[in-house]
Amino acid sequence: MRKKIVAGNWKMNLDLQEGIALAKELNEALTAEKPNCDVVICTPFIHLASVASVLDANLIGLGAENCADKEKGAYTGEVSAKMVKSTGAQYVILGHSERREYYKETPEILKEKVLLALANGLKVIFCIGESLEEREANKQNEVVKAELEGSVFNLSAEDFAKIVIAYEPIWAIGTGKTATAEQAEEIHAYIRGCVAEKYGAEVAENTSILYGGSCKASNAPELFAKPDIDGGLIGGASLKCADFKGIIDAWKK
Ligand code: PEP
Repeated sequence: MRKKIVAGNWKMNLDLQEGIALAKELNEALTAEKPNCDVVICTPFIHLASVASVLDANLIGLGAENCADKEKGAYTGEVSAKMVKSTGAQYVILGHSERREYYKETPEILKEKVLLALANGLKVIFCIGESLEEREANKQNEVVKAELEGSVFNLSAEDFAKIVIAYEPIWAIGTGKTATAEQAEEIHAYIRGCVAEKYGAEVAENTSILYGGSCKASNAPELFAKPDIDGGLIGGASLKCADFKGIIDAWKK
């Protein structure tokens, strides 16, 4: 059975003290009321070690929002997958559209990052998704397939099992516009079909595919009720404990 997951992506929003406070609050809330799904929070690098020390690792997973495409050495300002892992983190988000667009991360760069993350024992939340222009030209399927082929379909089936896919239509990220549950289900089913074509039906059945893009407590139940939507990658609504918990609780409905 594939995992149901709600993962937060804090992005560049909270300072260290605010991040620790939010992690503690979430840890307390989920200790008091156990979630019905896996919960992960992905934080800026500087938060990782401190946040790891306040989380119950059996209750909440921890991840980074990025890692370097090089193993180690003279790369000023970069943070390697090994360093991420050494903080206690178990996950890393790779391929987020903001990294692809603002930091020019290409499929080849992402392929290297994925390999290094896996080699260092991290699970990868790999983001794919089309722009508004591509959706309007009805190119969403070819875009997501190319993103998978470009950076993760080179993996063995054993390594691919450590990948969580996050479908995030770029036009829905931080815009308040959510894909309808039907739109999301249609492309999630297509993505699962691509995985089945490449790795077989069993691997596809076991792959968690998260939806991301203005997901909140009010729309999560409808999205998560769809058969191919296995949870969410949450940006804005992961920055307040009550908002994030509201989405986690969607798995209880
Ligand atoms: C994201 O950037 O991963 C995301 C889903 O953001 P938001 O929930 O704010 O749209």
